[in-house]
Amino acid sequence: MSRVSVKEILQYATIHKFGVPAINVFNYETVKWAIEGAEREKLPIIIQVYPGFSQHINLKYIADFTKDMAQKATVPVAVHLDHSTTYEIAVAGIRDGFPSVMIDGSSHPYEENVQLTKEVIKVARIFDVDIEAELGHVGTGSKLEDIIDSNNYTSVQQAVEFVERTDCDSLAVAVGNAHGVYIKEPNLDFERIAKIRSSVSIPLVLHGCSDIPDEQIQKSVNFGISKFNIATEYDRAFYHAICNSINPSDNKGSFFRLETAACDEIKAFVIRKLKLLNPNNYSL
Ligand SMILES: [Zn+2]
Repeated sequence: MSRVSVKEILQYATIHKFGVPAINVFNYETVKWAIEGAEREKLPIIIQVYPGFSQHINLKYIADFTKDMAQKATVPVAVHLDHSTTYEIAVAGIRDGFPSVMIDGSSHPYEENVQLTKEVIKVARIFDVDIEAELGHVGTGSKLEDIIDSNNYTSVQQAVEFVERTDCDSLAVAVGNAHGVYIKEPNLDFERIAKIRSSVSIPLVLHGCSDIPDEQIQKSVNFGISKFNIATEYDRAFYHAICNSINPSDNKGSFFRLETAACDEIKAFVIRKLKLLNPNNYSL
């Protein structure tokens, strides 16, 4: 399949009312099995990497082999660099060949977020790279105020101005979602999602989708969000699949066998997410 951009996939998904899982990966296997899950379901997928993992895996290497696998996949697969919190990280991602990068200026005051996003987009346009930005602040699920304090949520009015001023390609919104494990079940602000959706034309992104109840995820798809970031749950699925494949009486001690035995369970996780994000039964 020829190169497909995150922007193209998300614009298409927004029109056709389905959600695209953006799966956070950290090694070759997590990329391979996520793509194979998408091929099995015949649906597009986004593979993304968190820059904080650069000590674990060289970001350029993972961009290179993921792009190669994406090109050979039988479904649209796009490659993205997740949360780049500084100009340097984002531009290094562009240098390393990521066709799509997130610049996350959401921890800065509004005006600084606008300026930082604009600076990164200036470089991104030269290299034809898509940019996801964030407005409002998606915090961490371990802090109650990050989930329930609507002062952190995306302002509808600001979203309109932010998109206009920065020209970003997609926008991550804070609507009661948070990263990592939630200490309290999230209760997404659908009224706000609807207002943002009707006020801006670019695709919308929901971070922190791990453990958000299924019905809220499906409602978010129907309310027009198209990119759904899944990191914690995929990591957990990988862990449990490995644990479930350990056979204590097998003393051959082969990690290769262990991984091979775990792959079906991990692919099943990806397939379940693809089905969940496709409540209107879209097919390619
Ligand atoms: Zn995030």
